[in-house]
Amino acid sequence: MQQYQASKDALKNKVILITGAGDGIGKEAALTYAAHGATVILLGRTVKKLTAVYDEIIANGGAEPAIVPLDLKGATAKHYRDMASTIQNEFGRLDGLLHNAGILGVLTPFEHIDLETWQDIMQVNVTAAMLMTQALVPVMRLAAKPSIVFTSSGVGRKGRAFWGPYAVSKFATEGLMEVMADEFESTNLRVNCINPGATRTAMRSGAYPAEDITKLKTPADLMWLYLYLMSDDSINENGQSIDAQPKR
Ligand code: NDP
Repeated sequence: MQQYQASKDALKNKVILITGAGDGIGKEAALTYAAHGATVILLGRTVKKLTAVYDEIIANGGAEPAIVPLDLKGATAKHYRDMASTIQNEFGRLDGLLHNAGILGVLTPFEHIDLETWQDIMQVNVTAAMLMTQALVPVMRLAAKPSIVFTSSGVGRKGRAFWGPYAVSKFATEGLMEVMADEFESTNLRVNCINPGATRTAMRSGAYPAEDITKLKTPADLMWLYLYLMSDDSINENGQSIDAQPKR
């Protein structure tokens, strides 16, 4: 599986929704999935960024994407149900769901964590992903080999000082993935998690502003794993939390 090489049409005829598709790792995943034949649904909160990704996919000769402008902080179960109906009507099924959108908040000593920040991070990183998945599972069951991928972090496996709500949200993400993987084990739906590792994005710069970013991997360096888990080559993976930078 390591450094998996996907064929050019590895995702041909697949419909894949990516959250946080306008920037960072999500943007790279959207471009990469489209370049390997998928029709991508670009979900994010900043429409300008989503349309830029849309334009780049079209310019590269990819299938026409769909855009879903949505702020996960305020979205309700009804938003997700409406989105699921639209996807079913437009595409007939959903083959892949990449939960990538996330917020870090501010690194804070435990005693200074404020409730509003805690709730925002839990809402965007955990609750939104749970509600969206609940609404989309019926549409994913209409696909032959559907795959759900959550995004974790090193601090979602081993807690770290000052990373409070973000770290706890990533532990919850791992837990949600494991619960779903166990529950759906006897079905065709597989559920896994990616830990990207330190990656050159705006979020990473927010956590480590003084770092030399040239030493960091880029989102493109991680795409072997993002492709693998969406391709049919990973149909036997379920309940795994996999490092995109295993040797780091
Ligand atoms: P970025 O901050 O670069 O991108 C995050 C994306 O999520 C953006 O497109 C952002 O939209 C979107 N997003 C954030 N909040 C919302 C919201 N409320 N509603 C809709 N979309 C939203 O982050 P990365 O690419 O670095 O991170 C991607 C994932 O990888 C995250 O889950 C992160 O926790 C995880 N990760 C990243 C690591 C790293 O080193 N970069 C390491 C470990 C894990 P907008 O552009 O509009 O702000």
